[in-house]
Amino acid sequence: MGKRIVIALGGNALGNNLPEQMIAVKQTAKAIVDLIQEGHEVIVAHGNGPQVGMIQKAMAELTRSDPEKYIPCPLSVCVAMSQGYIGYDLQNALREELLDRGINKGVATVLTQVEVDPEDKAFQNPTKPIGAFMTKEEADKMVAERGYNVIEDAGRGYRRVVASPKPQSIIEIQSIRDMVEAGLVVVACGGGGIPVYKTEGHHLKGAAAVIDKDFASCVLAQQVEADTLIILTAVEKVAINFGKPDEKWLDSLTPDEARKYIGEGHFAPGSMLPKVQAAVEFAESAPGRSALITLLEKAKDGVAGKTGTAIHQ
Ligand code: ADP
Ligand code: MG
Repeated sequence: MGKRIVIALGGNALGNNLPEQMIAVKQTAKAIVDLIQEGHEVIVAHGNGPQVGMIQKAMAELTRSDPEKYIPCPLSVCVAMSQGYIGYDLQNALREELLDRGINKGVATVLTQVEVDPEDKAFQNPTKPIGAFMTKEEADKMVAERGYNVIEDAGRGYRRVVASPKPQSIIEIQSIRDMVEAGLVVVACGGGGIPVYKTEGHHLKGAAAVIDKDFASCVLAQQVEADTLIILTAVEKVAINFGKPDEKWLDSLTPDEARKYIGEGHFAPGSMLPKVQAAVEFAESAPGRSALITLLEKAKDGVAGKTGTAIHQ
């Protein structure tokens, strides 16, 4: 029986620059179409670290070239641009792979806004560095004129830091559901989604924040009522004592075991920790739901229960 699967693609599925992305998406498309060919419904979410960094840097250089003419580009707009550009490459690669295998299925990217809580404590404590390094003078100017938060980054210069609030809900969820029901392969929640919050009436305002793509994928998977959340990354399995002599790769993990290991500090914040947290939240969100963390190339074997770390109750 086909399952409804949300796949969260990590950085290695997309590469670090334009030519790398063009090549990487071909392998990524193969892994995704393998699952479609087996009868699963697939919804694709993805990260955007290097891409949004590149766009943000380009837009900052534009402002620097002529500050009168080009005001700084809001981060939410940079995220939207990254969704468009990554969606374009993914749509193209998926279309080609589907046609090559004789599968007649449409592919569509949804520019996705994700609601965050303006009272989220993360806004009081921005920790996520983004964009280019600045000199002290440039940083002071940005603080004074734009209200940016900046940090001194390990002797390498100054960088803007933004908050990473928790995703609350997906604004375009009904469109995403309708497209999935219509049989389309949907790409959504790129880069964790464009962070927005509600102001007066129906207005949504972009937030100067980035949302963790693993947490956004977890919300997406719940809101499309997926059976499985697959987080594809650079390791085949989750480990305890990662990188140590007594490292142990895990085939499966219950939410209780995961919480115990989280408490013992086995998963690095900012890399494996959000994945395990997202996997646990999804696995506990309804009976029968499970999550899987594995390598892109192992997605098919992972769904068949042959590898990866499965998280379920
Ligand atoms: P992605 O772009 O897929 O989100 P990340 O670099 O954020 O990738 O997270 C994946 C990385 O997490 C792995 O490549 C690995 O180096 C690291 N990692 C940290 N702790 C662990 C652990 N306990 N088990 C496995 N990998 C871990
Ligand atoms: Mg990551």
